[in-house]
Amino acid sequence: MRILVVEDDKDLNRQISVALEDAGYVVDRAFDGEEGHFLGDTEPYDAIVLDIGLPQMDGISVLERWRRDGRKMPVLILTARDRWSDKVAGIDAGADDYVTKPFHMEEVLARVRALIRRAAGHASSELYCGPLRLDTKASKADMDGVPLKLTSHEYRMLAYLMHHKGSVVSRTELVEHLYDQDFDRDSNTIEVFVGRLRKKLGVDLIETVRGMGYRMREPNDG
Ligand code: CA
Repeated sequence: MRILVVEDDKDLNRQISVALEDAGYVVDRAFDGEEGHFLGDTEPYDAIVLDIGLPQMDGISVLERWRRDGRKMPVLILTARDRWSDKVAGIDAGADDYVTKPFHMEEVLARVRALIRRAAGHASSELYCGPLRLDTKASKADMDGVPLKLTSHEYRMLAYLMHHKGSVVSRTELVEHLYDQDFDRDSNTIEVFVGRLRKKLGVDLIETVRGMGYRMREPNDG
């Protein structure tokens, strides 16, 4: 899952980004409204954390433009404590949720998790596929209760496939959602990682759809 953090306060931007990275997400950072708007307009993010008070273009305008242009990614806005009107304006502009500053990082993480799983149509923070359980809260997975030893990259790939269980996910889509914008993108490496992940799962839950990509499926779906 790839997330964009738009926050002009450099320290806060770093804190949020690092917390999200530690939780298993890939993070791009923007420090003003124009840069943030551009990235959100051109890159496929699974969620965006957007500060309202930004230089160049304020967060409400950024959000309004995205929504006007049909961008549907979940957006969590950060608002100042005494600015209740920002929450109203933000939600009216198309925000999916908000967090008031100052906040506990755990709250941001929980709200981002919730936005991503709701966008994928899941109500619970635990996702299942046959014997496989993905705990998005702990960023861990287990097979019949036995913990899987996954690298952070493998976890990210598994989480993306699990959130889109039953749908075909193309290699390009995986590359776009598993790496940040600076990564040298090569879709061949995806194949290698899928192979490793399959080996660790042991059970055949990741189907290759020829010429299309991969699909996570229940073991008895034939
Ligand atoms: Ca700010």
